[in-house]
Amino acid sequence: ITERIDYENELRQLAFGERAEGVAEGKADIDWALRRGELFLVYQPKVSLHDGRTIGTEALMRWRHPQRGLISPNEFIPEAERRGAIEEMTYWAIEKAVTDMKPVLQDMPHFYTAVNLSAQMFNDPGLVAKILCILQRVNFPPDRLVLEITETGIMNNLALCREMLQELMNHGVRIAMDDFGKGYSSLDSLRQLPVAILKIDKNFVDRLEDEKDLIIVKAVIRLAKELNIKVLAEGIETKKQWQQLAALQCDYGQGYYFGKPHATISL
Ligand code: C2E
Ligand code: CA
Ligand code: CA
Ligand code: CA
Repeated sequence: ITERIDYENELRQLAFGERAEGVAEGKADIDWALRRGELFLVYQPKVSLHDGRTIGTEALMRWRHPQRGLISPNEFIPEAERRGAIEEMTYWAIEKAVTDMKPVLQDMPHFYTAVNLSAQMFNDPGLVAKILCILQRVNFPPDRLVLEITETGIMNNLALCREMLQELMNHGVRIAMDDFGKGYSSLDSLRQLPVAILKIDKNFVDRLEDEKDLIIVKAVIRLAKELNIKVLAEGIETKKQWQQLAALQCDYGQGYYFGKPHATISL
């Protein structure tokens, strides 16, 4: 209730304040969303496919816009990336995610939380230092944080990204390759980047009935195992998909079948 009152108070101030102009512009809104307190995180469980037990969460961003309602990250993240707002939002997300996860760690010492990292973040030379600084401030063990990256954008700037990711890894932070199988250079990025977890794209999970897709998924899981990389299948919506993937020795899973993104961390 307190939150609600503050929120509305803030909006009233906005209507009369200098920032009202930015709101009227619509798109520029994302520059102010964080400071207006309109962004929040939801958490989706990650499970072990062997026994269905939760092993961690992924933090996903949401924007509750005062006029437009709830906006999907597919819509506002690209906009935030174009406008350069993504940096501040990401550091906020990392700090919020590890702060929310911290009390859980006492009972679940092996849990981890994952946060998505846009390729744009690597333009900031202070990226590694800032992330380590957040972890230190919150007193959060770095090996309980996973950063999910996609190869899009990263491969243009490979040497630099590799160096930064390596440094994070040296401090215990793990890297997950998101949406694996979607791009062209997947295999090259596996070879070149210090990846600990590979997330098989939902498109493959949707088409396990298809013989070719099944063969590809099998091969990816085997490849990952030989490279000593854990595999997580995303977008699992049915028990059948779970059983199929578990039979293929896929380590972890995520999807509506196990739990939708939720405002609190579910154990
Ligand atoms: P992603 O990282 O690939 O996240 C997975 C998306 O699939 C999420 O959508 C999630 O809610 C959805 N999902 C999970 N399980 C299922 C399922 O069983 N069925 C279906 N149909 N969907 C499922 P969401 O939350 O809308 O996020 C979309 C994308 O926005 C994310 O894709 C990610 O690329 C981006 N994103 C979200 N939060 C952040 C963030 O904090 N930072 C950055 N840079 N990107 C973010
Ligand atoms: Ca992700
Ligand atoms: Ca994904
Ligand atoms: Ca995606």
